[in-house]
Amino acid sequence: MTLMFGTLDTVVVPAPSPAVRRALTPEPVVLEDVSVNLGSVPAVAHASLELKAGEVLALLGPSGCGKTTLLRAIAGLQELTTGKISVGDTTVSGPGVMVPPERRRVGMVFQEGGLFPHLTVEQNVRFGLREYADAEQRAAEMLRLVDMQHYASRMPGTLSGGQQQRVALARALAPAPSVLLLDEPFSALDAGLRVQIRRDVKRLIASLGITTIVVTHDQEEAFAIGEQIAVMLNGFVEQVGTPAELYERPASPWVAEFVGDGVRLEGYIENGEIATPLGHLPAHRNDGTAVPSGPATAIVRPEQLGLRPGNSAVVVDIEYYGHDVRYDVLMDDGTTAMVRALYAQFGVDDRVEVVFSGASVPVWPHQ
Ligand code: ATP
Repeated sequence: MTLMFGTLDTVVVPAPSPAVRRALTPEPVVLEDVSVNLGSVPAVAHASLELKAGEVLALLGPSGCGKTTLLRAIAGLQELTTGKISVGDTTVSGPGVMVPPERRRVGMVFQEGGLFPHLTVEQNVRFGLREYADAEQRAAEMLRLVDMQHYASRMPGTLSGGQQQRVALARALAPAPSVLLLDEPFSALDAGLRVQIRRDVKRLIASLGITTIVVTHDQEEAFAIGEQIAVMLNGFVEQVGTPAELYERPASPWVAEFVGDGVRLEGYIENGEIATPLGHLPAHRNDGTAVPSGPATAIVRPEQLGLRPGNSAVVVDIEYYGHDVRYDVLMDDGTTAMVRALYAQFGVDDRVEVVFSGASVPVWPHQ
């Protein structure tokens, strides 16, 4: 297997050598009821998470929901207010316990790379290797791993954003951590490069088999990189699951809307169907329990809807993606709907009818 880094200056580099891989011993990470108050702000509230050794978890949520605070707590840069964090068999944070960051075997890559500007690329990578007898060799190996071996004597300021991130990754991996933490590692990169570097990093993580937590506010990024995703809102972990579980069985209407497009509809359930402006739709609950009668919220995905010529709605916007098309439609009763279709059949201002073509919709009965 080969790994490729970079798009403009792509060089094919070998997969991690056995020595690099052997040095890394992935460990499970467990968070039990972790809360962090920052002054009077409850930045993280009662978060519990479990990562198996070698698993990749994406922490996904909107700005300010507590993702970075949680990551800093795992890295040992932030004390807990309550709760416990373990890496492998060791409690690293908890009542009366605060293992310093450098003793946690955790490597962290910050949003903008966070390289020391006054040190060369090689010195940056060697920074955490002061106790290593073979620091020079190890730094060279790490730079080869991220295809930056030809930049060892350069200063960070002379590198592109993507190159800086690769060096930051090499620096984080150099001391052979058991856990890798990445805080929005691709957000400073432009769109095309972001996707490329994301794929490269994903492949690298997979080939190293290292336990990894990636913070992102970008649903597509979380789905692309995370085997498991923890969705956070207002300091709480709302749901943990695989991308498919989150998309197909979201725990709340908010999660449903955050992890994909959806139309939120209020309606009344009777005989297992919810009456909505889009008609009577078969309803189910994502937790598998029976659908009770009464008022409820439903989420309809755009791919569950279709358009045909009609006179109950108007097309207000079209986004043409090539592989498919997204319509924004305004129904005559004021409901807005998103419809995904394979072909651009209608234009803006066309009169249409919205038809439901899915099997059923998830509902959340009002309490
Ligand atoms: P972003 O994606 O914007 O980086 P985030 O999800 O990582 O956001 P955090 O940076 O963890 O969120 O912040 C969580 C909450 O804690 C926010 O409400 C933030 O305003 C608050 N906060 C962060 N740092 C401090 C601080 N030093 N003192 C007080 N409140 C803080």
